[in-house]
Amino acid sequence: MWQAEVRVDLDAIRDNVTRLKTGTSAELMAVVKGDGYGHGMLPVARAALDAGADWLGVCTLDEALTLRREGIAAPVLAWLLAPGLPLHEGVVAGVDLAAASVGQLAELVAAGQRAGRPTRTHLKIDTGLSRGGATIDDWPELLDAAAKAQADGMIEVVGVWSHLVYADSPGHPTIDRQLAVFTEGLAMAERAGLRPRHRHLANSAATLTRPDTHFDLVRPGIALYGLSPVPGERFGLRPAMTARARVTLTKRVPAGTGVSYGHTYLTERETTLAVVPLGYADGVPRHASNIGPVQLAGRTRRIAGRVCMDQFVLEVGDDPVAPGDVATLFGDGTDGGPTADDWAEAVGTINYEIVTRFGGVRVPRIYD
Ligand code: PLP
Repeated sequence: MWQAEVRVDLDAIRDNVTRLKTGTSAELMAVVKGDGYGHGMLPVARAALDAGADWLGVCTLDEALTLRREGIAAPVLAWLLAPGLPLHEGVVAGVDLAAASVGQLAELVAAGQRAGRPTRTHLKIDTGLSRGGATIDDWPELLDAAAKAQADGMIEVVGVWSHLVYADSPGHPTIDRQLAVFTEGLAMAERAGLRPRHRHLANSAATLTRPDTHFDLVRPGIALYGLSPVPGERFGLRPAMTARARVTLTKRVPAGTGVSYGHTYLTERETTLAVVPLGYADGVPRHASNIGPVQLAGRTRRIAGRVCMDQFVLEVGDDPVAPGDVATLFGDGTDGGPTADDWAEAVGTINYEIVTRFGGVRVPRIYD
């Protein structure tokens, strides 16, 4: 018997990959960083590859090495690398690595030297996000250094890539501006003698709404998990994660009863309270105090009072609720219950953060 669980429907992940692939002729990189956005990096990676994903995308070297240790042989790109990491281990494991500066490139060159084979390198250009990537001003210097290192056999430039600022607003003028910078950056790479096979720019939103950003490879993350990157649109995706718990205790209380820490919630009449064993240690945002939607006994209710570390309380009135009944925080919404989008809206965040938070260690993740 279970107390609380996060269920992940791997069929939904497979369907979402199929859905994304039908909209593009580019290769597809399933972004499985952040423990597969809380869904479990390894099961998600395997399901996505089963369904036809060509690549896996992660942030860290550790994530990439974990994929390899678990026997996953598909192309993997790791893109967020602090100085001094054992990058040669990535090269030996056949992991592609990203560089956005001459300094980062030097680390990839050293890794290739130490591994005894060229580092498969994706050069990142900053087309406007002002995060990772070389600015267009610094791009020529990076290209020159990369062309030289490639001629010396220390790296192989297999990719040029960037990331969008506003893909979640498909008509936003920054997308055209970034496309123009990206195209110019590619032309400069070609003039420097570099002909990367994998040019990539599109995240989920751009994969779904802007075919002109697809180039050779698209990098969807959130859409794999069935959540929409564009508020108000569904794109036929199937949410994969359900978070739920079984009521531990019910009790009758009089009107005027203060509920949970700080008594921020007061009952207005005699009523029943139900205790649900999930708290902020499990991923429930404390910001959801008094606002988080939870389905119990066929109705969606708001959390009563503060979310605690391990539990929260629902007021259920006179509804027939008993210990053991299942309270669903979010799921695929097909039964009218709340979704991760509803949680994001209630709490003032994005669906990405909601599902990622529920990938913690205490609540078992069950795969369907
Ligand atoms: N590419 C990069 C570089 C990312 O950092 C991310 C995630 O933030 C993605 C692709 C996938 O983005 P999304 O989850 O919006 O599809």
